[in-house]
Amino acid sequence: MPEPFDFDFVVIGSGFGGSVSALRLAEKGYRVAVIEQGRRWTPENLPKSTWNLSKWLWRPSVGLNGFFSMQFFKHVIVVHGNAVGGGSITYANTLLVPKYKIWHMGSWAGLEDWEQVMPAHYATAQKMLGVTTNRRMSAADYRLKEMAKVIGVESSFYPTEVGVFFGNDDDAPGTSYPDPYFGGAGPDRASCNGCGGCMVGCRYNAKNTLDKNYLYLAEQLGVKLFEQTKVIDVQPLAGKPDGAAGYEIKITGGKSARITCQGVVFAASSLGTQDLLFRLKEKQSLPAISEALGTFVRTNAESLIGVRFPGSADDLSTGLAIGSGIYIDEHTHIEATRYPAGSDTMGLLTTVMTMGRPGWSRPFTWLATLTKMLLTKPLTTLRALKPHNWARETMIFLCMQNLEGHLTMRLKRRWFWPFSKQLSTYGKHIPTFIPEGNDFAVKAAKATGGVAMNALTEIFLNVPMTAHCMGGAPMGRNRSDGVCDSKSRVFGYRNMYICDGSVLGANLGVNPSLTITALTEHAMSHVPLASEQTWTAIGQEIPH
Ligand SMILES: Cc1cc2nc3c(=O)[nH]c(=O)nc-3n(C[C@H](O)[C@H](O)[C@H](O)COP(=O)(O)OP(=O)(O)OC[C@H]3O[C@@H](n4cnc5c(N)ncnc54)[C@H](O)[C@@H]3O)c2cc1C
Ligand code: SF4
Repeated sequence: MPEPFDFDFVVIGSGFGGSVSALRLAEKGYRVAVIEQGRRWTPENLPKSTWNLSKWLWRPSVGLNGFFSMQFFKHVIVVHGNAVGGGSITYANTLLVPKYKIWHMGSWAGLEDWEQVMPAHYATAQKMLGVTTNRRMSAADYRLKEMAKVIGVESSFYPTEVGVFFGNDDDAPGTSYPDPYFGGAGPDRASCNGCGGCMVGCRYNAKNTLDKNYLYLAEQLGVKLFEQTKVIDVQPLAGKPDGAAGYEIKITGGKSARITCQGVVFAASSLGTQDLLFRLKEKQSLPAISEALGTFVRTNAESLIGVRFPGSADDLSTGLAIGSGIYIDEHTHIEATRYPAGSDTMGLLTTVMTMGRPGWSRPFTWLATLTKMLLTKPLTTLRALKPHNWARETMIFLCMQNLEGHLTMRLKRRWFWPFSKQLSTYGKHIPTFIPEGNDFAVKAAKATGGVAMNALTEIFLNVPMTAHCMGGAPMGRNRSDGVCDSKSRVFGYRNMYICDGSVLGANLGVNPSLTITALTEHAMSHVPLASEQTWTAIGQEIPH
């Protein structure tokens, strides 16, 4: 007898949440499809540097079919990844466990005994993603340690915990190994050579991207992946508005325009899931999605600053994309970040460090600072501003704070593009810069002979940039304060889950991917085996 549905579950997006969901559902005996709008990347088709814009940037409407996307909002610029493997293709491999106090903060506080529940899921996530301590410390990492000493926080210096394969210490970097992680069920790998290229995509088979672990194993179990295919609609079937009779998924770009399934996992990232759910709620495909959609959107309160060493004898672009970190105070965390030599495009967005107040006066302060520097140190200043050799000569500091603060997102028609609605941000301005971070960069530059740098967007647009957009589909006690429950089950719909950065309920203060992975492990551990499935799961209200 033919199956009544094309698949048991459709997973929308193949990033951290999507890949974990696909594997765990397949292991439980479900027939699973993953729909991903980005493409599959291999060592052969990855760009060699960020100057290859059509392979690096993602903006298909203008012919850019890469994997790195920038979205501009009133309050923040969000950078994120679109690819088979989601953000893992362009991310910087850093996989940190946040401090446990974050489970007592924000929208998820009290929904579970998180301190009891999460350690086992973090352990699974770390094992699956091959988390280990960085063994390719490089010139920039040693220089960060030196800088930490200058302000008396040397003891906080640490090499990062990363999802990278290093092989045996005795073997040369680049040595090939049969699957080192999954007892032969995973792909062959090669050890990291410390080229610094992780954010441009690893061309050496050393980065533990999702297509080498969760997604790889899922596909081995028969999960069907539709790449370069976008989900545009999800509707309950057969007049059962709560999805009790399954769902119809409409897609673009793929071979079939319609797929039916019994359950759905939204895993399109914080921005992607919010965007899709807003549109589906507005056009009455999923009208019962909670009004809490779009609330509690957070960044890690990040700021990108740096120090450039014009003419540096050391190549600061080698090592891992994020090789080490320090804590400059209780709330402020700095990671030494880099692009590989030759990938200088981000240098176009940097300028000299400008203090002063955020807002309209800052460009004037910038002009005064630049003029003074050009008059007093003309050669050094000009060399600090030229894009050529930017990656080789620059230490980028990813500065994060774990202070509370959040935005709201809504779909809105913007005055400059009235033809369609776009996600827009509302709320209090996120501080454009972190004064503690700027002070550190200035002191560190002075002590080590460098030039402190700022992002141009902070000065001229008065908005910070974040790679860590989180929240927007918060977990809650009921449909009035959350979109899903603590097990990621959507309120109001059966067999519908959200497993990605949109469910994160607090500012983590560290990079979020490990937490997204662990939370998805938690959600999936509560899905019954296919043989025991009754297809009735729905978000559970927790009594106050
Ligand atoms: C340059 C950079 C460096 C970073 N470094 C780190 C780091 O070192 N450590 C860390 O923890 N985090 C890092 N991050 C952040 C990390 O990449 C994200 O937090 C993480 O990928 C989010 O996981 P996710 O499961 O929410 O979704 P994602 O991994 O973003 O995956 C979502 C996927 O869904 C797809 N999608 C969206 N909408 C649709 C649709 N309608 N139909 C089909 N597919 C859709 C997207 O194409 C995307 O591939 C970095 C990010 C960037 C940009
Ligand atoms: S440093 Fe180079 S080889 Fe190592 S994981 Fe990053 S891109 Fe791959």
